[in-house]
Amino acid sequence: AAKGAGRDRYALFDPAMYADIMREAEDRAELEGALAGQEFVVHYQPIVDLPTSRLIGVEALVRWQHPERGLIGPNTFIPLAESTGLIVPLGRWVLRQACEQLAAWCAEFPLARGIRVNVNLSARQFQHEGLVEEIAGILAGTGVNPHQIVLEITESLLMQDTDSTIDTLGRLKALGVRLAIDDFGTGYSSLSYLKRFPVDILKIDRSFVDGIDTVDGDATLAEAVVQLGRALQLQTVAEGIETAEQWSTLQDLGCEFGQGYLFARPGAAAEIATILTGTAADPD
Ligand code: C2E
Ligand code: MG
Ligand code: MG
Ligand code: MG
Repeated sequence: AAKGAGRDRYALFDPAMYADIMREAEDRAELEGALAGQEFVVHYQPIVDLPTSRLIGVEALVRWQHPERGLIGPNTFIPLAESTGLIVPLGRWVLRQACEQLAAWCAEFPLARGIRVNVNLSARQFQHEGLVEEIAGILAGTGVNPHQIVLEITESLLMQDTDSTIDTLGRLKALGVRLAIDDFGTGYSSLSYLKRFPVDILKIDRSFVDGIDTVDGDATLAEAVVQLGRALQLQTVAEGIETAEQWSTLQDLGCEFGQGYLFARPGAAAEIATILTGTAADPD
């Protein structure tokens, strides 16, 4: 009876809720400490030309090198970084890191001057006032060719179809960078925004590539995205290619580029350097 009555009353002190709040505060403090203590690292996953499997670029993917827990993937800390706003300084750090790395590769390997580096931009970063100026500063400071930088944004961000979204996208494009829509096909957006927004690349979400040879309709959806890209003169990149069958099907559908474990997993910058020396064997 006491339990039932308690549930109806507004509890001033709920130990469970208190524990949740404390845990979130601790997590947040730990994340801030990690940024200050340089515990984050950027890994890079190759993006290849599908017909030849040659390297055309890399995607920068952040990891947390935790002193006790080892290497932690972004899915476990990006949501908290987003909700606390820490994604703004973290994302800025990732971009600077990626640009410095690209500049170093270009200085050492002639092949690197032909590749691009993709960097993910979260919605929260996009809403941040000084974003465009900060990116301009990082580009100028590192001296990279802006055309070699691709910013990946999500469909959900484009659904906020406001004047300020269009304005920010336009100012980013004016810096010379390219824009990709990440995880394309997973949002509930209308296609009309593709015409209005200055995007260059569509990344076909891994969920469609997964079932491309097995799930009814997935190949049709992937093909529709490729056709749409062609009609609008956008490049298409397929994410999450794991099998030779998926690779071959995507080529049949006319998809130009891809990335996935079949070609390479995300790895440290040194692994990309071995490919850029031109001596690495082509994956088959
Ligand atoms: P994303 O941008 O869609 O990145 C692709 C994710 O798919 C990466 O996961 C990559 O490791 C994974 N992947 C690539 N190929 C395969 C494959 O063949 N099979 C499977 N199963 N997975 C594959 P990761 O590194 O865990 O990143 C997850 C997400 O975290 C990213 O998804 C992105 O949304 C976010 N993220 C990563 N780094 C950053 C960052 O610096 N800033 C922001 N805002 N978000 C980031
Ligand atoms: Mg991405
Ligand atoms: Mg993606
Ligand atoms: Mg994805």
